[in-house]
Amino acid sequence: MPELPEVEVTRQSFVAAIEAARVLSVAVGKPLRWPLGCAPEDLTGRVVRTVGRRAKYLLVEFDRGWLLLHLGMSGSLLFAANLPPPGAHDHFDLVTSQGTLRLNDPRRFGAVVYVDTLADPLAHKLLGHLGMEPLSDEFGLAAFQAALRQRTAAIKQVLLSGDVVVGVGNIYASEALFLAGIRPTARAAGLSRRRVARLFQAVREVLARAVEKGGSTLRDFSSADGQAGHFQLEVMVYGRSGQACKVCANPVKMIRQGQRSTFYCPVCQKR
Ligand SMILES: [Zn+2]
Repeated sequence: MPELPEVEVTRQSFVAAIEAARVLSVAVGKPLRWPLGCAPEDLTGRVVRTVGRRAKYLLVEFDRGWLLLHLGMSGSLLFAANLPPPGAHDHFDLVTSQGTLRLNDPRRFGAVVYVDTLADPLAHKLLGHLGMEPLSDEFGLAAFQAALRQRTAAIKQVLLSGDVVVGVGNIYASEALFLAGIRPTARAAGLSRRRVARLFQAVREVLARAVEKGGSTLRDFSSADGQAGHFQLEVMVYGRSGQACKVCANPVKMIRQGQRSTFYCPVCQKR
C-alpha cells in the first residue's frame, strides 16, 4: 500500500512538469472508490496551478476547482508526454497540453474526486479530520506534546490512528518508536516531555529518510514500467522478529496491537 513517503515522492516526480498545463480531455475507466463528482468533459480547458498533498491525498489545484487523488491499496500515477492507450487497470487519464496523468489501480480502492473548493462537504469529509503533516512546519513539538497528553491509548496506536500526525504507517511507527527508545505499549499521555521530544525527532527523521530514499527508487521503477515499488528502507526492528537487535544484539520481539504487528527491542525500548 502506498504510504505517505511514496505519495510525496510521486508528487515531486511530476509537479513541475504538470504546472500550467491545460486539460485537453479526460478518460475514465472502471469505477473507483468514489464517483468523480463531475462530468469528465467539465474539466476540459482548466489549467493546473500546482499539485499539493494532504496526508495521502494529492491535491491537483486548477484555476477553478480541485481534483483529490488517492492511490488506495494498489494505485500508482504516471505522468508522461506520450502514453499507450489505457490498459485494463488504467482508470483515469487527465490528458493535458504537457502530458497525460494516468492512474493505474488494479484493485480500484483508489479515488479521483472533483470538488469546486476545499470547503466542499466531500472535501471536508476526506481531509477535515486529518492530523498534523509530519514534514511541514505545522508539525511542532509543542502541538505534538499537547495532543499526546490528551491520549490514554498506547503510543503506537495513537501514531497509527493518524489523528495526531498523519502518515506514520505501521513500519514507520515501529521504526520511530525504536529510534526514540519508547516501548510501543507505553501510554501516550504518560510520556515525559524529553521522551516526546525524542519521538518527535524520530518521526520526522524516519519519514524524511523514506522520501529521500524513495526518490531514486521511484525514478528507477518509472523508467521501466511506471510501477512504484515499496521503498527498500533499512529497518531496525520492523519484520525482524527473533533476529538480533542492530544496537544491543538481543532478539527483537513481535506483539499484536489492534490487529497489527508491532516490532520492538525489549532492551532498547524498556518502557
Ligand atoms: Zn536493542
